Amino acid sequence: MPKKRNGERLRLGIMGGTFDPIHLGHLVTAEEACQQFNLDHVVFMPSGEPPHKDKRKVTAAEHRYLMTMLAVVANPKFTLSRLEIESKQPSYTVDTVRRFYELYGDNLTLYFITGADAILDITTWKDYKELLERCSFIATSRPGYSLQKLQELLGSAFSVIMRHIHLLEVPAMAISSTEIRRRVAAGKTIRYLTPRPVEQYIYKNRLYIPHSLD
Ligand code: NAP
Repeated sequence: MPKKRNGERLRLGIMGGTFDPIHLGHLVTAEEACQQFNLDHVVFMPSGEPPHKDKRKVTAAEHRYLMTMLAVVANPKFTLSRLEIESKQPSYTVDTVRRFYELYGDNLTLYFITGADAILDITTWKDYKELLERCSFIATSRPGYSLQKLQELLGSAFSVIMRHIHLLEVPAMAISSTEIRRRVAAGKTIRYLTPRPVEQYIYKNRLYIPHSLD
């Protein structure tokens, strides 16, 4: 786990997502967040049983974890955690954040990095007020993303909540996990959309091919 010498404050980013599969957009996002927010490390946190996911069956956690490991292993600032995939409970971000404070104490500045779309319903998340107090959010938007959707959904709470949320526009997020799954299912190339070892892992394990989809 990341450590800091001399009792200095540790600045960590938790990169939360399903990562089904991880792609270059996620890696560029984490690198950009690391630099812009002066983070010591980014901890990739594949979701275990995502609380809001009933639309489609998500690929087994162990596959998503291993693909994430293949993608992050070469970057010394990146690490990954099994915390959420090993949890028997649904993955609530506030529980993950509490665990980080238990592990590192209060000498910690925490950022939660995820997609701007993923936080549209943040006010329905478990203990969201505590969550916003204990960590800032870095919400990644795709090119052309407008804050209007968030503003409409949050109404009067918008300006208060936006104090805790930083928007980061990442052009490489034009790549999406959904598009990668579709392309594999259609027999199209995914080269250069995800690191080569992840691409090879997908083919070797026959992920996202039509007979393995619902
Ligand atoms: P998702 O549906 O997989 O993704 C929603 C959108 O955000 C997609 O466009 C996705 O693009 C993008 N995205 C997801 N993770 C990203 C990341 N780390 N960086 C950049 N873009 C990202 O979202 P999700 O996985 O359910 O939720 C994201 C995170 O929020 C997870 O850690 C989840 O546990 C947490 N969450 C917590 C609660 C709660 O505590 N109640 C509720 C909802 C979500 P791609 O498909 O290309 O990744």
